[in-house]
Amino acid sequence: MSRRRKIIGAVAFLAAAVGITAGCAFWHWAPFHGPTTPPEAIRSFATLQRRMETLVADSNALTIRALGEVSYDGASWPVLMLSRAPGGQVHTRALLTGGIHGNEPAGTECLLQFAEVLSREASLYPGVAFDIIPVVNPWGWVHGRRRNGDNCDLNREFNTFKARESRLMREVCKDKKYDIMVDLHEDSHANGFYLYRLANPDTECCRAMIESVQAGGYPIHDGRVMKIFRARNGIINCALWSLRLARVTRQLSLSNYFRLEGCPRTFLFESPRQLEGKARVDVHRLALEALLERETSE
Ligand SMILES: [Zn+2]
Repeated sequence: MSRRRKIIGAVAFLAAAVGITAGCAFWHWAPFHGPTTPPEAIRSFATLQRRMETLVADSNALTIRALGEVSYDGASWPVLMLSRAPGGQVHTRALLTGGIHGNEPAGTECLLQFAEVLSREASLYPGVAFDIIPVVNPWGWVHGRRRNGDNCDLNREFNTFKARESRLMREVCKDKKYDIMVDLHEDSHANGFYLYRLANPDTECCRAMIESVQAGGYPIHDGRVMKIFRARNGIINCALWSLRLARVTRQLSLSNYFRLEGCPRTFLFESPRQLEGKARVDVHRLALEALLERETSE
């Protein structure tokens, strides 16, 4: 092969690799819009915080703490984490996150409902310690916006850590080794539920999650995602090398970051926006329960 053809081949391979990685990292590609007038608040963070604090007050199993605060335009919001330590010995540590994209509220609601169940049933998932962060991006959640108050897509911020929110999540990652991490999202283009399987060899576990959603009567996405990705029966496979490439290209997402930092079972769930709100919460719950049931039955 001539030197010129080798160079062309190498460039083509690199372009394809970057494209695949970009698909993994650019979960929802959206064009950048410059700063505009501040949007109106559409949700009350005080109400959300009260709901979380009431849960803790009514339960011996749950605790709550603020990881830190984020401030925009003179207002501040805490990034709150609920924790559940099981009664006996801990064999699995799980981190559940939602609301990194503030316009995807189903994940947040699913995690709040999940915490409510944990608060009522202390013996559920024995041996599993949970940390739950329902809203990673408080400003975005309050204003119904994907990005944070600095117009930054936080799910691309896990190389540079320029955003306060991503630095807080980095501290969570440094603080504790997790065995499971799940980040909840919504997709406005998908026909059904799907998940990103981040360098995970457990095919049966992934199928169990998909089958659980199917058994609930909900559709599964099978087809293209953002043109370059393909969900096969609801599963997008991301190899470890593609996550490393996302780090090199400085587009690392929250879940990619946790996977590269050593969390072996990391998943990103996407509920289809075309379903109504309760159904979107339900598909997240069904997939999450299937994952956790495997964890406690092994
Ligand atoms: Zn998202």
